[in-house]
Amino acid sequence: MDDPQVVTTVSAPDRISPGQVEMAEDCPLQLALNATIPENSRSLPSSSPARYVGTAFHGVIESARRGDGGNPPSRVQLEEIWSQQIAKVEDQARDNGDACWLPLSRSYGLLERVRLSAVQLALSQRVYGNAGQSGEIGTTETRLESSDGLVAGRIDAIDRSDGSIVLQDFKSGVVADPSGQPIGAHTTQMLLYAALHHEVCGIWPSRLELVDRTGRVLEVSFTPDDAMRALDSAKALLRGVVSVIGTGKSLSDSEVGGLARPTLDTCRFCRHRPVCARYLADLGAEGTKVQGRSRFSPVDAIGTVTAAGSMRGNRAWITFEHAGTTRTIRGCTRHGRYIDADGTQAATALPGAGTRIAVFNGHPRRSLESFPEATMLVAGPNVRVYTLMEDGE
Ligand code: SF4
Repeated sequence: MDDPQVVTTVSAPDRISPGQVEMAEDCPLQLALNATIPENSRSLPSSSPARYVGTAFHGVIESARRGDGGNPPSRVQLEEIWSQQIAKVEDQARDNGDACWLPLSRSYGLLERVRLSAVQLALSQRVYGNAGQSGEIGTTETRLESSDGLVAGRIDAIDRSDGSIVLQDFKSGVVADPSGQPIGAHTTQMLLYAALHHEVCGIWPSRLELVDRTGRVLEVSFTPDDAMRALDSAKALLRGVVSVIGTGKSLSDSEVGGLARPTLDTCRFCRHRPVCARYLADLGAEGTKVQGRSRFSPVDAIGTVTAAGSMRGNRAWITFEHAGTTRTIRGCTRHGRYIDADGTQAATALPGAGTRIAVFNGHPRRSLESFPEATMLVAGPNVRVYTLMEDGE
């Protein structure tokens, strides 16, 4: 595939999950594009493999709570469950178009640390059996849905003891901001779970807890009013997207485009950058965008090809120019989509001079501080180079 999937019609989602609300507040169009385009057809791979490691982490804890790792859980069984979970999420990554991050042992430097933490945390879990089978509200991975069906999601754990009800969400990443307070997105998520729990069971939870991978617990304080406000805003957000898109509308429709809110913090995680007109317009105006704050952050760049050639190992380099700045990207492989997925040779797939291209997720060869223009980019496995269609083509 040389070009991003041609998305003609965008659809609105039927519901929103607590984990999607912050992303949708930042950019409602991303919510709609996620609902429209299946994972394996999205233009860019996920921005990091962390989501898959997080899923494996949750899987181990969930298994322990169900009793799959023994009662009480045993380290040997949990280690085995971790290996199974990793195999499972690697299959998911392959299916989702994220094969560039495989194997996770190579792409995720903290994998061993997460494995140790997951097993340790799982060892401390109480075993509840298979939640939900009796038709009651379960205690592990429990689905909660608002009465109108507009907001729904799964809470990791509901613990009841001595008349108190504690909702817990396990996080493989950080849970607190630098001041020690729960990260805003996590707070919103927990408020929504509290409100959903109340809608489903008619009872407010006693406590909301975020549990980090070391087992540290951070309480999210709340009042029922806070939680109901969060639920109302999540519904209003969804209704707002539905009212613009209805049962489906062209992606090029100006009202649909009006749902886009391009900011670097939002767009750098978005897999739809190559098909987002607002983002491409900004990129076209600026020529380059640095995604993230790291010195070695991925760079998106746009320009007109002046030269291209083959390198050893079926790799290629491309030089392109934008508003007087010339950039070269080296090391594109057949993972880069300017080369056809059927294995077309790089030598025959090189873009010709005069072709407008956009490069996504290129890495600067040297740190951005010493090389601020990012004129030399290096292709990693998740780099995508697309030929841009000009108006009228
Ligand atoms: S690229 Fe940015 S503006 Fe466009 S849909 Fe994604 S997050 Fe929104």
